[in-house]
Amino acid sequence: MTIEMDKIVSLCKRRGIIFQNSEIYGGIGNTWDYGPLGVELKRNVKEAWWKSAVYERDDMEGLDAAILMNPAAWEASGHLESFTDPLVDCKKCKHRFRFDDLDGEVCPDCGGELTESRSFNLMFKTFVGPVEDSASVTYLRPETAQGIFVNFVNVQQMMRRKIPFGIAQIGKSFRNEITPGNFTFRTREFEQMEIEFFVKPGTDEEWYQRWVDERFRWYLDLGINKENLRLRDHESTELAHYAKSCVDIEYLFPMGWCELEGIANRSDFDLRQHAEHSRKDLSYFDEAAKEKYIPYVIEPSAGADRATLAFLIDAYREEKVKGDKRVVLALQHRLAPIKVAVLPLLRNRPDIVEAARSIAADLRTRYKAVYDDTASIGRLYRRQDEIGTPYCVTVDVQSLDDRQVTVRERDSMRQVRVPIEGVVEYLTDCLNRGELVDLTG
Ligand code: ATP
Repeated sequence: MTIEMDKIVSLCKRRGIIFQNSEIYGGIGNTWDYGPLGVELKRNVKEAWWKSAVYERDDMEGLDAAILMNPAAWEASGHLESFTDPLVDCKKCKHRFRFDDLDGEVCPDCGGELTESRSFNLMFKTFVGPVEDSASVTYLRPETAQGIFVNFVNVQQMMRRKIPFGIAQIGKSFRNEITPGNFTFRTREFEQMEIEFFVKPGTDEEWYQRWVDERFRWYLDLGINKENLRLRDHESTELAHYAKSCVDIEYLFPMGWCELEGIANRSDFDLRQHAEHSRKDLSYFDEAAKEKYIPYVIEPSAGADRATLAFLIDAYREEKVKGDKRVVLALQHRLAPIKVAVLPLLRNRPDIVEAARSIAADLRTRYKAVYDDTASIGRLYRRQDEIGTPYCVTVDVQSLDDRQVTVRERDSMRQVRVPIEGVVEYLTDCLNRGELVDLTG
């Protein structure tokens, strides 16, 4: 099924997932706020990444470096000089484009004549301290990677790490993109999930391939459909100045195949540059081999916002149920913003309400669960389906007699009766297994 982006944007607004930033003032170009459910979804994406990148490996450390850095770091990294996009303006309608996005020689909007292309640096400039002079200029980081490189020796020595090992980081990055758009796909402020993996020169190609496989599998493991994911090798003409090789993991977004994540073999470029500019020794001494070298770096660099958008799009389903349209977000349980919703069948029966609230309170000690009685049961189910809640628990009149509740599964809409006692463990089991557990079988 191909899904228009508008449907996703509208669902996100309607259900409190993503809002336009500063909406009451008319918004600000391509800047979005994650609402109560969006913040949960994105946190789950980031947690799944951190778990696989840091906790499940014994060759990785985490880091949270600052957004502002000494501007010398950006000179060393090459960003001051070459983190640019070629920019052209239409002389007639004044619209602005990235030259490398254009197919023809004229304005795609009005056919007008275009200006000469000029380089535009994507870094946001700002000032440190009260005086706005050139000595106080610094930049909002356009990638989190440099915060890792400048800490390479700190982490390696303090954590007593041997090569190969990596450093993982999640954080905000900023780029003054010329042509942002497609909802949260390209924004000026976004979060990256980056790994710099330090290896011995000569083993870099093998590690590069291992990371490509590992990162591709991560998206599949979290439920992305295989046919919507592909790898695209960069042509040699397309490679960044530092990269030995680079591949993009692409997702089939509504606007076509676009980059989700880039994996690059950056050679020893970054550490060598920082060593030269800082005049510090950033090499590594291999005790066993009595050998000193500057490590090569493999960089899997993903976007938390792009990944979140891809998971949303991939999970979106429209179905017909008894003549009605049902919208379902078939998110993997790990990613679902709310894990369980507890719904009383009759909200004017205090005993039913009390039983439902008590189950919700028990569930809340484990994960995000809600109690909701603001509509009829049918509408409550639809609402939870639309936000991807894997399980709904309904407390009805009979529950008071037989001490059982109905558990309904989102995708199959299958319902089972489960004893109230132990229902929390039962749901936790279902969530861990990713499917409704059959008590009778
Ligand atoms: P693009 O070609 O789409 O501009 P890029 O190749 O410049 O991306 P990288 O520098 O490789 O991107 O950044 C790594 C990841 O960070 C990207 O794969 C993407 O997921 C994310 N990312 C980069 N720029 C943006 C942006 N403007 N908005 C949202 N995410 C972004």
